[in-house]
Amino acid sequence: MTATMRAVVLDVPGRVRVQEVPRPTLESATDAIVRVTTAAICGSDLHLVDRKIPGMEKGDVVGHEFVGIVEDIGDAVTTVRPGQRVVASMFPACGHCRSCMRHQYRTCPSFQIFGGGPGFGDLLGAQTDYVRVPLADMTLVEIPEAMTDEDAVFTGDILATAYQGLAEGGVRRGDSVAVVGAGPVGQLAVMCAPLFGVDQVFAIDLVPERLEAAKALGAVPVDARIGDPSDAVFDQTGNLGADVVLEAVGNEAALETAWSVVRTGGTVAMIGVLYDEAWPVSAGDNWLRAVTVKPIVGDPLTHRHELLRLIETGKLDPAGIISHTMDLDDAAEAYQLFKEHRANKIVLKTGATP
Ligand SMILES: [Zn+2]
Ligand SMILES: [Zn+2]
Repeated sequence: MTATMRAVVLDVPGRVRVQEVPRPTLESATDAIVRVTTAAICGSDLHLVDRKIPGMEKGDVVGHEFVGIVEDIGDAVTTVRPGQRVVASMFPACGHCRSCMRHQYRTCPSFQIFGGGPGFGDLLGAQTDYVRVPLADMTLVEIPEAMTDEDAVFTGDILATAYQGLAEGGVRRGDSVAVVGAGPVGQLAVMCAPLFGVDQVFAIDLVPERLEAAKALGAVPVDARIGDPSDAVFDQTGNLGADVVLEAVGNEAALETAWSVVRTGGTVAMIGVLYDEAWPVSAGDNWLRAVTVKPIVGDPLTHRHELLRLIETGKLDPAGIISHTMDLDDAAEAYQLFKEHRANKIVLKTGATP
């Protein structure tokens, strides 16, 4: 008889449920099996479950942000071993192809996102008791002993994504940065901004609780329900606009806001998940305003070591954004809370002890 385990799966579009599925086994010598202890719910999970990103079918397992204990490894795995507590990158990479040698892991032929559905390689998700991790030597990294699961888990996606938005957005000391979308990723971008010497960071959103959270992290909150966000940003930047804008929502309205607040010659870094949104301005308008555009899929493999170090030395406190810690069994309720903006960031616990 095949052993089973719990998994968060797509039920009907817009809704998940927890059900028993077969427990994964090693499929390749480079695989590891990880016993998940903590898994986070991401905005991208909502996009997949709501089928804004098409392809997820009923019964597909979701989740790509997770921490756990290595349970088993294939014969070719050398850098992790059973019993180690690890955090995974949200996508595996081989580490030795032409793309990986250039640290362009997104274009590695082995790219697939955990729980990303058929459009992203059909790799099973990690909001489960156990997950199969391909290319474990690259995908997993050990967590420093004193660090909590809750701090480490965000280095696997959203903290890396936020940090990369600032890094690849070319933020310089003294810059003004605007973050469109003060959800978890936007808040982490605000948290990371001082590391880049940012002078002021605006957080633009429609949800009061999110604006409050961003303000507590040092942002100037801009309530998009009250007036045009560009008025507030231009007023407070000597009528220049923001040097770098992070679009951290992934919809057309947020893209339009991003273009409305960026300065001439500035940069828009698109870190939100976009699928079939129209471009917000004409090519001519973009050319005249000389706006640099950086589309970014967060890359934990490049940034997780420095991020783990920044957490270890107390310069980042990503776990501070967690509003709810819930049991994996309550995933359906958790997704609803997150979707309705009644939770800031939710982590699911499996009950397994590290
Ligand atoms: Zn994520
Ligand atoms: Zn590769």
